[in-house]
Amino acid sequence: MIGGLMAQRVAIAVHGGAGNIRPTDIPPARQQQAEAYLREVVQEGYELLRSGRSALDVVEIAVRRLEDSGLFNAGRGAVRNSQGVVELDASIMDGRTRAVGAVAAVRQVQNPVSLARQVMERTRHVLIVGPAADELARAWALPMRNEVEFSEPATTFWGTVGAVALDAQGNLAAATSTGGLSGKLPGRVGDSPIPGAGTYAENGLVALSATGEGEYFLRSVLVYDIAARLRYQKVPLSQALASAFQERLEPIGGRGGVIAITPTGEVAFYFNTSCLFRAAIDGEGRLTVGTFR
Ligand code: ASP
Repeated sequence: MIGGLMAQRVAIAVHGGAGNIRPTDIPPARQQQAEAYLREVVQEGYELLRSGRSALDVVEIAVRRLEDSGLFNAGRGAVRNSQGVVELDASIMDGRTRAVGAVAAVRQVQNPVSLARQVMERTRHVLIVGPAADELARAWALPMRNEVEFSEPATTFWGTVGAVALDAQGNLAAATSTGGLSGKLPGRVGDSPIPGAGTYAENGLVALSATGEGEYFLRSVLVYDIAARLRYQKVPLSQALASAFQERLEPIGGRGGVIAITPTGEVAFYFNTSCLFRAAIDGEGRLTVGTFR
């Protein structure tokens, strides 16, 4: 109790992608390394939230750390397209205003999530794609990489990355970043940079970040469908997640996972793949780290 008020709850969840691998497919040391990294990222994010940093700052910082790790299919660790080139997609959404910034098919910026945030804050647009987006990153003096550096031999075992957070002011935010599908056609854009498909945040309702085969998430507008169930049906979070997957994603063959945070600091993970690389600290301060079910 501070000044007669309960300290406001804060919460954070992150993911490092969904997949259909079995426990025996991953060297135990690699799984431990990824889980330790995810744990570190949520612990750091949680402390920042407790010190009063905004949910928006914290999801950007968390995703940037995951992009920089080289462990996940985002930023430094991203997979290549059918021409052997890395093309990255990312978005960030502010639950206060539903402002969104997004970039797609960028090749040179080091942290697509930070470029997405700059698009949100420095332009009147939502989504900028391709070389023009890399140009903006250069003009705004964001750290760049050359395409060769991105094409270091891939050691990635994990997928897309994402973060959702609730801050001490009760604001929600979400961010997602990815190299997309391995071997994808040049110019292909997935769900991660598309609001309502792979990323969504709305104060008073929910913050969500998805991973999986993006085409199905786009066709289902999946994370917006989850938010709409919460808003109109007023069902519990676990039910909104399960019914959206079962009624929207699965009938067309979609597979993947979603992380979610509510205004009360409830955290949920839902996936219909064998694994979702994940970590969270909920509103009660409880830490979860996991890969398989
Ligand atoms: N959703 C991402 C995409 O389709 C890929 C992933 O999550 O693994 O671009």
